[in-house]
Amino acid sequence: MTSPELSDCILIADDHPANLLALEAVLEPLGHPIIKSSSGVEALRYLLDHDCSLALLDVAMPGLDGFETAALIRGRERTRHIPIIFISASARDETHVFKGYAQGAIDYVVKPFDPDVMRAKVTNLLALHRRSEEMRREAALRGRERDEFREKEQEARAEAEAQRKRLQSLLVQAPSVIAITKGPDHVFELVNERCQQMLGSLKVLGKPAREALRGLLPQEAWKSVDAVYESGNAFVGTEAAISLDEHGWGGTERRFFNFVVQAIRDLAGNIDGLMLHAFEVTDQVRARERERDAIRLRDEFLSIASHELRTPLTPLRLQLQSTLKCLDKGETGVAELRPRLELALRQTVRIGILVTDLLEVSRITSGRLTLQREEMDLAESVRDVAERHEPEARNAGTTVQVQAEHVTGRWDRLRIEQVIANLLVNAIKYGGGRPVRLTVERADGAARLTVRDEGIGISTEDQERIFDRFERAVSVRSYGGMGLGLYITQQIVDAHGGRIQVQSARGKGSAFTVDLPVLTE
Ligand code: ADP
Repeated sequence: MTSPELSDCILIADDHPANLLALEAVLEPLGHPIIKSSSGVEALRYLLDHDCSLALLDVAMPGLDGFETAALIRGRERTRHIPIIFISASARDETHVFKGYAQGAIDYVVKPFDPDVMRAKVTNLLALHRRSEEMRREAALRGRERDEFREKEQEARAEAEAQRKRLQSLLVQAPSVIAITKGPDHVFELVNERCQQMLGSLKVLGKPAREALRGLLPQEAWKSVDAVYESGNAFVGTEAAISLDEHGWGGTERRFFNFVVQAIRDLAGNIDGLMLHAFEVTDQVRARERERDAIRLRDEFLSIASHELRTPLTPLRLQLQSTLKCLDKGETGVAELRPRLELALRQTVRIGILVTDLLEVSRITSGRLTLQREEMDLAESVRDVAERHEPEARNAGTTVQVQAEHVTGRWDRLRIEQVIANLLVNAIKYGGGRPVRLTVERADGAARLTVRDEGIGISTEDQERIFDRFERAVSVRSYGGMGLGLYITQQIVDAHGGRIQVQSARGKGSAFTVDLPVLTE
């Protein structure tokens, strides 16, 4: 069997070779390749791998007859459209054919046949087949195009959905506050994470903004929001304050925001919602407030410092002037000059202490406080300092009592003496003329210095802040001072790895306790 792979070939099946040859001769003028099979089985085998545009089947073939072969051809999807012409020796078979194969292109030729009739039938069926093939191909093409279109449409939809989700997640995760409302009542439609975080436990989604945020914004703010919805003109605000309870702890915190409320339009260009976009600027506002406070504090300090420095200068100048006068007159002996000069010297010492304090503060704030550690006995230093301040105590009408046990450590001697002196001077100054007691002991594994007075005392609310720079709990008129002593004292104690505490009550005296790490043997 020859098997040209042409789809327009004609397949003929007949168990008589002579019939096959005769048929071939009849059909040859039509110009189609002709495939000859000597049985139904052979014809089917051919059609397994090939196509043809027409099958001519002898009805009376041994094995599979023409009808059975045709039934199998029609039974397979790929070959069911092939037109079939049955060739039979008797017209009896005709009714059978048209009953069983009413569907599709079927014809019937009785032997002996007229070659022209045969060619006409073949030509007719071939044309029919070609047309229906074309239509099928066309329909398949349309189907494919439709499928492709659907596929593309689905892809485009998926892409648009992914884009929408991406945009939404950008909005939701944006570090700024974003909220979107719908309609003239501004019903919350979207509230991003930052916005929800700010609102704390407040649930606003699906609720009209006025109702959801009742009491949070002033009436004028709502008027401006309504105006944006009506006019479409954006509303911009800077450092707007709002009191929020972000953590749901009941207490509200005043926070500041820069924001813009703008209109959202639908596809037809009509306003159908609003978008709020806000940035928190609380840190910046607070930093500016702190800066303002710092400047105010500095100005206050400068006026206090100049007052403090002038205080010892005036008696110093007076002493020196009167000393000079006495000398000019030549009326004074050395014995009379001595107390005047001693007084002048005390004033210079006081100026010296003030200048040292200022220098120390500038060293501390610029991080240049370094310690010169040496092994020393705290009791010894306390006794020395107490002795040095004996005259000052006497002037204030008080006494200083020392009870000190021997405790050593590796500390900066000058700075520790500064700590003792600052606390002692305060105890004398604020001690109301009553005795001041200094004790040194070993307690809780540390060297403990306690400076106790029975003076004006310090209220509980002031106890923490007096350790800050320039902080004082008394008026300048009643007591001089720059508010630096305790600040410097605490910084020195901290630098040594120790700690300072105060126990006091207003009018009940004060006890300042300094614990310093001791030498470990
Ligand atoms: P200054 O004494 O120059 O004001 P300090 O830093 O030494 O500065 O003290 C800060 C403030 O702490 C004082 O102004 C005073 O109000 C309070 N204070 C310190 N020591 C005592 C004390 N022993 N008794 C009562 N108040 C004190």
